[in-house]
Amino acid sequence: MFFQPRPPAVDKASSKLIPSLAYARARTAVKYSIFSLARNALSYHERWPRVWRSPEPRREYAVVIVGGGGHGLAAAYYLAKNHGITDVAVIEKGWLGGGNTGRNTTIVRSNYYLDPNAHFYEHSLKLWEGLSADLNFNVMYSPRGVINLAHSYADLDAYARRGNAMRLNGIDAELLTREEVAARVPLLDCSPAARYPIMGGLLQGRGGVARHDAVAWGYARGADARGVDIIQQCEVTGLQRDGNRITAVETTRGTIRAKKFGLAVAGHSGHVAAMAGFRLPIETHVLQALVSEPLKPVLDTVVTSGAVHFYISQSDKGELVMGGDIDGYNSYGQRSNLPAIEHSVQSMIALFPSFSRVRMMRTWGGVMDMSMDGSPIIGKSPLDNLYLDCGWCYGGFKATPASGWCFAHTIANDAPHALNAAFTLDRYALGKTIDEKGGGPYPWVH
Ligand SMILES: Cc1cc2nc3c(=O)[nH]c(=O)nc-3n(C[C@H](O)[C@H](O)[C@H](O)COP(=O)(O)OP(=O)(O)OC[C@H]3O[C@@H](n4cnc5c(N)ncnc54)[C@H](O)[C@@H]3O)c2cc1C
Repeated sequence: MFFQPRPPAVDKASSKLIPSLAYARARTAVKYSIFSLARNALSYHERWPRVWRSPEPRREYAVVIVGGGGHGLAAAYYLAKNHGITDVAVIEKGWLGGGNTGRNTTIVRSNYYLDPNAHFYEHSLKLWEGLSADLNFNVMYSPRGVINLAHSYADLDAYARRGNAMRLNGIDAELLTREEVAARVPLLDCSPAARYPIMGGLLQGRGGVARHDAVAWGYARGADARGVDIIQQCEVTGLQRDGNRITAVETTRGTIRAKKFGLAVAGHSGHVAAMAGFRLPIETHVLQALVSEPLKPVLDTVVTSGAVHFYISQSDKGELVMGGDIDGYNSYGQRSNLPAIEHSVQSMIALFPSFSRVRMMRTWGGVMDMSMDGSPIIGKSPLDNLYLDCGWCYGGFKATPASGWCFAHTIANDAPHALNAAFTLDRYALGKTIDEKGGGPYPWVH
């Protein structure tokens, strides 16, 4: 029997949820350590408890979060951990991390130019640095460095400006010469005759990669241990509304009422918002990735090129993990197609000619929630008790810890955290966009 905490009371005047005292008594997960490993070896590892429960959904919660990707699970974890609110359900239509969380290329970084992005993503990177210890679950954060290649003097100027802005915000950044790039990434074609000549690069040494599934699993385990109900194979098919409030979600496993609702459904944001009766400035596009057969270690840095729109790293299993741009048309189809594969492979060979004999092994796609300025929306919706976490474009994996942190704060207090105060929905109407790339209101150029 697992302990079910009491629903917290709601302070009607401030719309804050008051933490349940029961929080302190929530279930504790087995601590993973050398000692628990040794103890379980004695029983041939057959007695490890389930990492999280699979409870039947209750009819009512204080908070329901729709979407069991990294963002929804992280929000549930921080609602419990930071705000003592454990009467929470995370509703997922498929399996945990089966959306973009388990489909991304795992790059984490905070190399942003504009202040709201820089502060938000740096908070995320700081959380990444301590996440395995915090969750007692190895998320395999590997700060192996992320290099943005400069292919022209204009690129170098832009990177110097971005690097300086990062340093002014206390974020590590290093402008590399061509020789320094070549020394760090020996297989990169840095010759003057290269198809895309390399003039240098911007390095963020603390950037790198993390294991995507582990992030979903680690947050799920931590949230479950604190009493959160994680409900998989449960699709939200409708939202019941009373005036300007949502009263319940209709799901394939019945109607579930709550006092507050959070949406963290990535590429399905527009679809679920329509159930609530409003439109979002979000378009859904497919982003694809592919991996090669496993190789011995050949690439120990994440390399990206804006000029060819291509990025590549090597996973711990040895596969070269790569991707390019989104498809130029809207789609909910979570699959890949030949033109995108061709583009990525062409780019790879232009930058790394010696990879031309490598065979590709797997390819897939995920549906991205592309916003009109390339920055996310974390905050209040037009409805009183519905909160939004969307618009992650193709960079939301690295945001997972800070997004969960800020989304939980916003839901708990009915007001944003300082770090997500700028990421409002109404910024588009007010002309206060956060246009990191200066691309204008066109999702496909961000
Ligand atoms: C190929 C690819 C490469 C990428 N590379 C990177 C990268 O290197 N670095 C980076 O930072 N980001 C990257 N991203 C982006 C990143 O993966 C996403 O921004 C991030 O994972 C979004 O997390 P999420 O929790 O919001 O969404 P998801 O993980 O997609 O979770 C949303 C969940 O909501 C569920 N859902 C949807 N509708 C409903 C419903 N009606 N009822 C119940 N549940 C519902 C879905 O099943 C899904 O599990 C990449 C994405 C892709 C596809």
